[in-house]
Amino acid sequence: AKDDGRNTHRVFTPAMRENATERIMLISKLRSALANDEFELNFQPQIDLASGRIVGAEALLRWNQPELGRVPPGRFIPLAEESGLIIDIGAWVIEQAIATAAAWRSRGLGDIVMAINISALQFRHGNLARDITNALTRARLPGTNLEVELTESTLIDDTDRLEETIALLKRRDVKLAIDDFGTGYSGLTYLRRFAVDRLKVDQSFVRDIDQGDSAALVTAVIQMAHSLGLTVIAEGVETQTQSDQLLGLRCDQAQGYRFGRPMTAAAFESLLIDQAHA
Ligand code: C2E
Ligand code: CA
Ligand code: CA
Ligand code: CA
Repeated sequence: AKDDGRNTHRVFTPAMRENATERIMLISKLRSALANDEFELNFQPQIDLASGRIVGAEALLRWNQPELGRVPPGRFIPLAEESGLIIDIGAWVIEQAIATAAAWRSRGLGDIVMAINISALQFRHGNLARDITNALTRARLPGTNLEVELTESTLIDDTDRLEETIALLKRRDVKLAIDDFGTGYSGLTYLRRFAVDRLKVDQSFVRDIDQGDSAALVTAVIQMAHSLGLTVIAEGVETQTQSDQLLGLRCDQAQGYRFGRPMTAAAFESLLIDQAHA
């Protein structure tokens, strides 16, 4: 409603002002974070449910800010997107994750697929395909050892640029996974159009998998994915019961605290060494 009365200043409550100040403060600290080497990647294991073996790693960004401590990605990623800083930060993630995967591979630690999270903005600006293919070439990592995770909302943003980028990555055999599957828009035609390889079932469904509706949904997703030749990974698997249920539903892979929290590259490498000797 139109209202030019006195109460219009209620638009800015003290809480919101504080929030805006805090955002500006965080963005300004984010600007120097790359140069100051404040970022680190952690890696979380992805497990093949049938064999129990580690088959992949998801790279998850961590920001160690000297004054603020660890700022969670849920807090700084949106600001990095808003400010455009995600382009440079994302390029750093790509470089680091690929170099790490190449190091594991060259040490004979198995055929691990490294999964990286890509924001919609990275498809729209910068040169994502070039950044990724150059990093693969430099590290001599085959594209099959890399997976990009994007959300349904990224695919909705249906531009020629997006289609071209995905085509270039596919030509290098890079895999494509849909993150948080089931939470977004779910037209399904894009699964074929973009030759999606894998669905990551969102942790909200895994959390409630002992309840009828979620179980039915996960069952349907797995059946549909398999009939289209896609694999399915369940996220946020915290208990043995969830893991057993997912295996019973023929879910291919799982990721979650039950199998390992996000950890440093060195810790992940020790897991791979143990596995290679097992
Ligand atoms: P996501 O891609 O859905 O990542 C999964 C999140 O679930 C991670 O949170 C992970 O630590 C957490 N998680 C893993 N297993 C469990 C579990 O068993 N239980 C529960 N409750 N949580 C679990 P994290 O690391 O805080 O990352 C949050 C989000 O930040 C990610 O969600 C992703 O959207 C974004 N993000 C992280 N790293 C990057 C990055 O390098 N680039 C971009 N663009 N986004 C990133
Ligand atoms: Ca992800
Ligand atoms: Ca997810
Ligand atoms: Ca998410």
